[in-house]
Amino acid sequence: MLYSGLLHCVNNEYSFITLIHYIVNDFFTNEWLVGITMFMKKILISACLLGEPVRYDGQSKPCDHPLINQWLDQGRLIPFCPEVEGGLPVPRPAAEIQGGGGIDVLTGRARIKTREGDVTRPFIEGARAALATALKEGAVVALLKEKSPSCGSAFIYDGSFTGKLVAGSGVASALLRKNGIDVFPENEIKRIENCIK
Ligand code: SF4
Repeated sequence: MLYSGLLHCVNNEYSFITLIHYIVNDFFTNEWLVGITMFMKKILISACLLGEPVRYDGQSKPCDHPLINQWLDQGRLIPFCPEVEGGLPVPRPAAEIQGGGGIDVLTGRARIKTREGDVTRPFIEGARAALATALKEGAVVALLKEKSPSCGSAFIYDGSFTGKLVAGSGVASALLRKNGIDVFPENEIKRIENCIK
């Protein structure tokens, strides 16, 4: 629009004021806004932290930190649920990693299981989809829900279904980190500010 406006002004010998009108109008078009957000550092975020009811129990875990609203307004957040994108339904049986952490699942040394059976494959597919989305959308960092076998980044359940936590990360977090995308849990949200400066 700006280019056609300039041509229009030149061809018709319109005034400087008319030219300014085209420039101001153009500044507020979607093309400009899309252009600005294209160069903005993005944040992949667990969809459940943004209030989407995608957890295994059909619930969400909204994070109401003021930074969330700020990043939403700036168009920085890319909501994503690895387990749903990996093909698992909502609700679904609770799952835990057995025999290690997310990196062990990726290398075949650990499995992800529910009380009914093995669900390793959809978890790995969801982790790969999370990485592909992060790279495609320009996410440089991720804010993921702690304790999840996909999204946990400091602690996960130990695989015994007894509520016991161990140090470790989920499979999506492990794959993102392996590919250079840092991951933080919701209680370390402020650390993300440094990553998007
Ligand atoms: S996989 Fe991640 S985004 Fe999906 S419900 Fe679990 S914690 Fe939330």
